[in-house]
Amino acid sequence: MLRNTLQTVKYYNLNIKKKFGQNFLIDQNIIKKIIDAVDITENDTIIEIGPGIGTLTQFLLRANKLFAIELDKDLVKVLQEKFAAQKNLQIINADILKFDLQKLIDGKNVKIVSNLPYYISTAVITKCLTLQIQSMIVMVQKEVGERIFARPSTKSYGSLSIFSQFYADISEITKASSNSFLPRPKVESTVIKFTMKGLHEEKFLFELVQRAFSKRRKTLINCLDNFYGLSKQKITDILIQNNLDKNIRGEALTIENFIELAKQIKKLAN
Ligand code: SAH
Repeated sequence: MLRNTLQTVKYYNLNIKKKFGQNFLIDQNIIKKIIDAVDITENDTIIEIGPGIGTLTQFLLRANKLFAIELDKDLVKVLQEKFAAQKNLQIINADILKFDLQKLIDGKNVKIVSNLPYYISTAVITKCLTLQIQSMIVMVQKEVGERIFARPSTKSYGSLSIFSQFYADISEITKASSNSFLPRPKVESTVIKFTMKGLHEEKFLFELVQRAFSKRRKTLINCLDNFYGLSKQKITDILIQNNLDKNIRGEALTIENFIELAKQIKKLAN
């Protein structure tokens, strides 16, 4: 028997855990939009983070291989019972923040899908962006969505905007009101698709961006002082060469500025 979310919660006598950020999807329209956006093919390996009671999972089973990573042991039991017959599904009881996702990535067709707890969404997105995956669909709180799409010199702009826009083409799949969940969260949500640009890991750029935003109210030169041993004078020279004001702050730079600076600083640092 196919039970809906409320019936499943009642049937298993589940106690919905706030500390694990459990808000289960109930809006069929949103579920359909997410699944359509995943664009599953039979060659795909899909990794679902935080499957909950398996609401999205049941539709993701069309992929060649599906990994579902869930922290809550009680929900793992539900999933094991519900999907006992599914040979292409592997349920993993783990904390996504401590789990090495790299070992699940075997080829080109890996897609990540997640309606995950909002307090770890930034950490999870940042972690996944550097993986060699094809795409990632995540449900996030509206404000995190604004940070992902933000342009320079706005309040929401920061390292998450740059990492997201550097590694992926991003689009909004749908907004989701709090009525789409059981229980209802206090915030509004949005579903975002990251289509990876296929770039290789740019560790150096990440380090530079992190340093540039390390002291929010300081100038870029002060943040970067002694970065890879570079003097303030050297950094000033680089800024001037790039037609950037020497008092500029990290939050005013475009991603293109950061990429260019990273190239030049790396040359000098080596
Ligand atoms: N995807 C489901 C459930 C969303 S609720 C749905 O849309 O209905 C978020 C889920 O993430 C819960 O099942 C919660 O137990 C799980 N979760 C919370 N923290 C986690 C972590 N650190 N690692 C893996 N899963 C986690």
